[in-house]
Amino acid sequence: METVACPDCDLLQRIPPLPPGGKARCPRCGETLATEPIDSLDRALALTVTAAIVFIVANTSPLMGLSAVGRQASTTIVGGAYQMWVQGQEVTAVIVAFCAVIAPAGYILFMLTVLLAVRRPPAPHGVGEMLRWAHSMQPWSMSEVMMLGILVALIKIAELATVEPGIGMYAVGGLIVLFAAIMVTFHPREVWKRVKWADGEAPPRTTDSD
Ligand SMILES: [Zn+2]
Repeated sequence: METVACPDCDLLQRIPPLPPGGKARCPRCGETLATEPIDSLDRALALTVTAAIVFIVANTSPLMGLSAVGRQASTTIVGGAYQMWVQGQEVTAVIVAFCAVIAPAGYILFMLTVLLAVRRPPAPHGVGEMLRWAHSMQPWSMSEVMMLGILVALIKIAELATVEPGIGMYAVGGLIVLFAAIMVTFHPREVWKRVKWADGEAPPRTTDSD
């Protein structure tokens, strides 16, 4: 049982273990103090697998069609970054490659590893280390950063040619929605609960409130 102070009225109270889908409310003011998500990890896994498929589509199908001086061409995200590099915009090329390809790929791989590793509890100790590491990497795997990378790519390429959105562009849009859904669904607390410490003890409980 953990002791928490109600964020609304400061009443100190103990929260009993909750059933899946259960909620604990403050007896004095009715503020929700804790929730126990249903199948949080399974849903996060389903979303992450979908994101992996959409990521592959986003990176293999044309991001946009280009037409310049009567010639037609199409490019993928990586192809676009490569073109920028060739044309002397090395810094932009690296930013686009990192934000739009490397960071999201890393995020998907990390989520898949953690979510698959905790399916058979107790989860290996390394999962706890990974979660900690991922926490420091999180600002880089945000979809806003990816969006920024794509936008920079678009603006730079639009300077050179007329741009029409391709399948890859719609896939990127879908990926941004999926990433947001994963972040809402995934509760690291659920993973911590399943991590077995090297000494055989359960990990210390972390409270979200502090
Ligand atoms: Zn209260």
